[in-house]
Amino acid sequence: MSAPDQKSIFTCSRRDFLKVAGVSAVGLTMANVFWGCAAPETAPTPVTNGGRVPLKQVGKNEYETDVLVIGGGLAACFAAVKVREKGLNVIMVDKGSVGLSGASPWAGGYCVFDEQLGHDRAEWIKNVSATGEYVNNRTWLEIFMDYSAARYQDLANWGALDVTEFGPVLKKKAVESGAYIIERTMITDLLMQNGRVVGAMGFPMEEDTAIIVKAKATIMCTGAGTFKSYGFPIACLTFDGDAMAYRVGAEITGKEFVDTHFTSAEYPAACWDQWGIMRRGLQKGGEPRWGGHGLDLGMELQAHEGNIPTQLGPPSGMGPPGEGGPPPGMGPPPGGGPPPEGGPPGEGGPPGMGLGGIIGGASCGMGVHKAEGIWPVGTTCASTIPGLYAAGDALGSMLSGGRYAGVGTSSSGSSVQGAIAGEYAADYARHADSPGISSNEIDRIKASVFEPREREKGFSPGWVTRTMQNIMFPYYVIYVKEQRRLEGALANIEFLQQHIAPMLIANDPHDLRRAHEVKNMLLNAEMKLRASLFRTESRGCHFREDYPARDDANWLAWVKLKKDDKGNMLLMKQEIPEEWKPDPGLSYEERYPFLRFPGELEFLGMK
Ligand SMILES: Cc1cc2nc3c(=O)[nH]c(=O)nc-3n(C[C@H](O)[C@H](O)[C@H](O)COP(=O)(O)OP(=O)(O)OC[C@H]3O[C@@H](n4cnc5c(N)ncnc54)[C@H](O)[C@@H]3O)c2cc1C
Repeated sequence: MSAPDQKSIFTCSRRDFLKVAGVSAVGLTMANVFWGCAAPETAPTPVTNGGRVPLKQVGKNEYETDVLVIGGGLAACFAAVKVREKGLNVIMVDKGSVGLSGASPWAGGYCVFDEQLGHDRAEWIKNVSATGEYVNNRTWLEIFMDYSAARYQDLANWGALDVTEFGPVLKKKAVESGAYIIERTMITDLLMQNGRVVGAMGFPMEEDTAIIVKAKATIMCTGAGTFKSYGFPIACLTFDGDAMAYRVGAEITGKEFVDTHFTSAEYPAACWDQWGIMRRGLQKGGEPRWGGHGLDLGMELQAHEGNIPTQLGPPSGMGPPGEGGPPPGMGPPPGGGPPPEGGPPGEGGPPGMGLGGIIGGASCGMGVHKAEGIWPVGTTCASTIPGLYAAGDALGSMLSGGRYAGVGTSSSGSSVQGAIAGEYAADYARHADSPGISSNEIDRIKASVFEPREREKGFSPGWVTRTMQNIMFPYYVIYVKEQRRLEGALANIEFLQQHIAPMLIANDPHDLRRAHEVKNMLLNAEMKLRASLFRTESRGCHFREDYPARDDANWLAWVKLKKDDKGNMLLMKQEIPEEWKPDPGLSYEERYPFLRFPGELEFLGMK
């Protein structure tokens, strides 16, 4: 686009821009289209911190407990209740409100494996493995199948099933169990002592006070993240858990697999219109489906190929009955459309969906459900760092693998993993020493947490967030990937990390939250770009234009990353177990029947 064009779009409405540009929005991610009309929030030069507070005025509140649970969704509530059932003390800290923030309140379909309903274990394993393109973790799938019915029964016993809003029921249960809850408090840093996590530090939204929670064990239940993309209702989730864990040396995985939830072309940012219907309670339903649930790269790849229909209906099962489905190749695979994520089939889709068609990118930045997160060691939800556990969307369990196979497995997966993390963290805490972290170390971390409040001049978190979004949102960065574009984006992200993030300012505690959120998003952007560069093949929801085919000889493997001794990001490959690999007797097309990448068969010499 030429410079005059760019100038002119700042004066038009977003809808006008779509018309003027002649773009059927499916050709771009929603976010990319939206930001074509975005005006910067503040000038891209350092500004003065009008609400500055000197560090010496910042207070300190200290707590001590057996187990700290960071987060307040399904995973966190199950974790806290299980710790209490083991007779230990637990503190839950959420940056929003327990049961009302994060992704959990939006979940509808709750998948339960139940042989009495005719579910077949071997068939589920086969469906998830093929759909997740063999990089799913079968052990975590088996664990899910072992315990999902029990967690569903727990929810029934708590009274969480026959209500529209189950979040308050979860919170009530946590309180009744004896968990101590601290809300509207963002955790920013894990506390370390002799290589072990001994709690965390954060601050409340309302005042300049450091909240310090010393704990024998800590469970990260901070959910997933996006780059605050519009149209997907979880802008509060900014991969904080992955960022905090990475900084203390934990291994992280799954960053190259991207989620592809959608929004509507007409009102891309109206998440309540589009997803609000999902906030209507949990219903038993959903199962891993052969071929997945349409949350694949179909939309982005079609657009990339230039196949941009002028009007798209919602995917099969998502829209009002009779209003059409996706064009060939755009939606779910042949053999039946998916039920909407969160709702039973046949009930139509979220209001607003279908207005002007659907576009991709609503969840831009997020990983495939249950893929990205803190790498689990064994089956106890322990991380690679002693004292640190993780569960739910914060755990890189690879339950589904490279593509989402199982609607409903995310909410029940978080419940199952939360309960496991609670039990094992309690066992660990029972035998662990009390934290003895020094007050000097606490003061050092406090100074760094509150630095943006004290700084006199710098960059606003809003401006840095927008600049990051402009780098990461375009569909041709992390949906349609290519080495030079990934490296270009990485160079820009690194500049923001090295030169701009150290100069963030915060006018008030809420702004301080945004400052820490953008730092976490930048770190995660780096992880996503590096993991995408590292995996030199295409698989599931990871498409490399320059390596457009699956490479089973080299990449039946997970990508893990961690901070090395010099502070650099170290990328590692871990092969999946031999027995989980696809049958070598099958042809390539039989192994991968669901999604053809552009140029794939030509690249393999098969066409
Ligand atoms: C619109 C939508 C529809 C969905 N539909 C379904 C569905 O039908 N079925 C299904 O199985 N799954 C669905 N999912 C996914 C599912 O909701 C999630 O996988 C699951 O609920 C995650 O639970 P969790 O407890 O791991 O994380 P979350 O519920 O996301 O909880 C994370 C919590 O951590 C808190 N937090 C984050 N960072 C910090 C920090 N730094 N300090 C303190 N607190 C912090 C947040 O405020 C939040 O409360 C849907 C998701 C969305 C967004």
